[in-house]
Amino acid sequence: MLAIMLGPPGSGKGTQAAKLSQEKSLVHLSTGDILRNAVKDGTQLGLKAKTYMDSGELVPDDLILGLIKDRLKAGGTKGFLFDGFPRTIPQAEGLDRMLTEIGSRVRLVLDLDVSDSEVVKRLSGRYFCPSCQATYNYPNKLPRREGICDKCNVPLSKRKDDSEEVVKNRLKVYKEQTQPLQDYYKRKGLLKTVDGERTIDAIFADMALQLDRTI
Ligand code: AMP
Repeated sequence: MLAIMLGPPGSGKGTQAAKLSQEKSLVHLSTGDILRNAVKDGTQLGLKAKTYMDSGELVPDDLILGLIKDRLKAGGTKGFLFDGFPRTIPQAEGLDRMLTEIGSRVRLVLDLDVSDSEVVKRLSGRYFCPSCQATYNYPNKLPRREGICDKCNVPLSKRKDDSEEVVKNRLKVYKEQTQPLQDYYKRKGLLKTVDGERTIDAIFADMALQLDRTI
């Protein structure tokens, strides 16, 4: 099984991918999380990616395709749920080539539909746990103790790229470079659009059903 989560920043891809991958025993592969960890650890990849990420630009395709290739090679799993990848047409084409080489293909693309105004509202209220990466959202998805991660008990942080200026640029980049993927996957008959402005549970139920129909 290989499924992709598509949607603008703040549409809930990460939250849904974490729940779905656990429920369906898929490997949750978030390029954003991989890159943020690389920045935190000061690796070569992190050093190269940091400036792009801080300004809301996309990290170059060759770096992203390289890190995906390494993970696909590790293989041996029931399947993958990609979150935040692919983000450009060249990345989608690169993924198709890599999958063809190992006799696989993309089976489903879940596209979360959320309006621009909702995205801006959500990102300005978003916090994350620097230890387990769980995200919280004021006022909709509150931690049990204010400002503290439910699982790790550590203080929550705000992502540097969730500032108003950078959010505007991330939306612009999304429209220019990532939204064309809707047509790319629609033409292949793989795109399922899901209304992302409902409760987390309602969206989850919808997506889980789509995955069940595909598996
Ligand atoms: P995300 O957590 O998915 O919102 O990603 C945070 C940032 O990481 C993005 O704004 C990009 O700078 C970078 N990034 C994540 N995934 C990709 C990707 N597939 N291609 C290029 N840049 C990416």
